Amino acid sequence: MKRMYDSDKLHEECAVAGVCINVEESAGLIYNALLALQHRGQEGAGIAVLRETRICNYKKRGLVSEVFNGDTLKNMPKGKIAIGHTRYSTTGNNTIDNVQPFVTEYLTGRIATAHNGNIVNAKQIKEKLEKLGVDFAATSDSEVISCLIAYNIIKTGDEAAGVREAVKLIQGAFSLIIMTSGGKLILVRDGYGFRPLCIGSNVHGIMAASESVALDSGGFAFERDIEPGEMVVIEGGKIISAEKVITQSKSGLCIFEHVYFARPDSVIDGQSVYKARFNMGVRLAEEFPADADCVAGVPDSGLDCAAGYAFKSGLPLVSAFVKNRYVGRSFIYPSQIERESAVRVKLNPLKFNIQGKRIVITDDSVVRGTTSAKIVRALKDAGAKEVHMRISSPPFKHSCYFGTDIDKVENLIANKLTIQEIADKIGVDSLAYISLDGMKAACSDCTLGFCAGCFTGEYNVNINAYDKEILEDKSKCQAIGDKL
Ligand code: AMP
Repeated sequence: MKRMYDSDKLHEECAVAGVCINVEESAGLIYNALLALQHRGQEGAGIAVLRETRICNYKKRGLVSEVFNGDTLKNMPKGKIAIGHTRYSTTGNNTIDNVQPFVTEYLTGRIATAHNGNIVNAKQIKEKLEKLGVDFAATSDSEVISCLIAYNIIKTGDEAAGVREAVKLIQGAFSLIIMTSGGKLILVRDGYGFRPLCIGSNVHGIMAASESVALDSGGFAFERDIEPGEMVVIEGGKIISAEKVITQSKSGLCIFEHVYFARPDSVIDGQSVYKARFNMGVRLAEEFPADADCVAGVPDSGLDCAAGYAFKSGLPLVSAFVKNRYVGRSFIYPSQIERESAVRVKLNPLKFNIQGKRIVITDDSVVRGTTSAKIVRALKDAGAKEVHMRISSPPFKHSCYFGTDIDKVENLIANKLTIQEIADKIGVDSLAYISLDGMKAACSDCTLGFCAGCFTGEYNVNINAYDKEILEDKSKCQAIGDKL
């Protein structure tokens, strides 16, 4: 088995998309889907197209529009099947090797794999495959998945059977889109349903994607979510089989998808993301009212929650910040003066709405507390009389092993300080976090259970201490909270 790409980092929040249609326009449709999913990852992007039995894979660091600029997209081969991926931005190991799709060649064929999530037994699988003679040079969990699938395709002599056997051996979070040289698009979601995956259709065929917004972008009508543990095989623009291949005792969508990751115009497992965030604001207003003049959200993740808070409290909803849509990713400036300026050009306080006001400001989470401190300072500098911060998730205290990139546990502010101490540190007049029950109740349309392990420390998957050590031993991101 030949390894095509190497990686030395586990994969984090990402987006996947795949299309199988009856016209040879798949690359452009995946490009649009990736643009719609750009919020899930800005570090790198890639598209793999199937042309007859060959796979052409183009991937690079950068935003989707940067990777596929100029004639790059035009020069992609024509094909009826394609998959794509966007990768989450971290400062460590930001190399081309980490960008997906991964292409794995084996004796009789090849597959391209796009993965969202994080698996917890990659090291064990890799060791076993190495003993069987599979050649690795990297530690990426997505590469391990790709090689495991290829190995099982050889073993079973069948593409779908190979995927079925392989995914039974994987533990953790995975929403997978696999394109085979035999002309199949195969979708699999792990048995808990940690990360979203849905499909839509139109007269030309089928699109699968992390979020329904991607289907909207390509004119595919939402059909349904892939069930936890389900494998769907698509060929010739049609679903040819759908079966449950992994069974777990409970389901658990990552609740942070609704709090932060997903776009508000997506619907995930029956729950509108916008409605969930609005409901969180309503709930926060009930649980933690404030004596204030107005409500505002931190753009963009706090905005829908602010609308809910304003609706319930009767306080006027105002804009406290204007976000510059043209800044793009933050450049790492060498000097403090340049860094401060970069911050202000991205999110500028709207003094007119802030000066002399007692303001309720909503945001999705406080992780290290750096962002909140900057937000509060900006509000106070703009003349806010009082700042009351309301957070639409409970205190963030634990690691995530299933695809949320968070700082080391010891850097999570809620582990070091009490809520009052955090309030003092970030300089707010009051600080309150939604209750765990309140957050879950806000997502009551969701047809799945939730994983809220980053707030509770309880995970659906048992991870032993050895694996925890491996999973935690990765260079953590500094990208968290690059809003300000
Ligand atoms: P901080 O408290 O400075 O670590 O920043 C928290 C803010 O970062 C939140 O309000 C979110 O908008 C954003 N955020 C939370 N979790 C993540 C994550 N896993 N990746 C990137 N940004 C995040």
